[in-house]
Amino acid sequence: MTRLIFLGPPGAGKGTQAQTLADFWQIPHISTGEILRQAMKDQTPLGIQAQSYVDQGELVPDQLVEDLVQERLKQPDAQSGWILDGFPRKVTQAGFLEELLGKIGQGGERVVNLDVPDEIVIARLLSRGRKDDSEDVIRRRLEVYRAETAPLIDYYSDRHKLLTVNGNQSEEEVTTALKNVITA
Ligand code: ADP
Repeated sequence: MTRLIFLGPPGAGKGTQAQTLADFWQIPHISTGEILRQAMKDQTPLGIQAQSYVDQGELVPDQLVEDLVQERLKQPDAQSGWILDGFPRKVTQAGFLEELLGKIGQGGERVVNLDVPDEIVIARLLSRGRKDDSEDVIRRRLEVYRAETAPLIDYYSDRHKLLTVNGNQSEEEVTTALKNVITA
């Protein structure tokens, strides 16, 4: 059973790699960022609540993402595995997820950290041109990453769940490296 959590700074290539591997293993790629962007586009209650946070590069409140992840992991297609991308993004969310996975019998998850130097990440984000990719917002997202998300590296390393891959290689090389560490 493949259950993976992708960690890494914004711009590390998590979304691209998560989608490639999800297609390869035929399991859902669950991206909280994508789900939120779609909800904002559709102006659903979730989207309306998330909008101002996402636009400013802040994390949306835990409750919103925790509810959506809980619902998503209960769907039939998630019973044969999944790749989570963008969740958890802080230690409180990781605690929530650990408890949730125990409760719904979906343990044994592994965490992959895509390691990419800061300057590479900034250059990639600036060339991507997404609506929340203006320079100020990028700077804020990186600050939030360092303060809230980077501590998850130690969190999962302490729990012996962490695998690390060098994300500063070509897209194909990263995919190969990921497949190697995950199936090892
Ligand atoms: P990136 O990895 O490029 O920073 P994402 O697409 O993963 O972007 O997320 C975009 C935005 O969605 C984040 O900046 C944040 O506002 C919101 N978001 C996504 N996942 C979470 C989460 N787990 N907790 C809080 N906010 C989140």
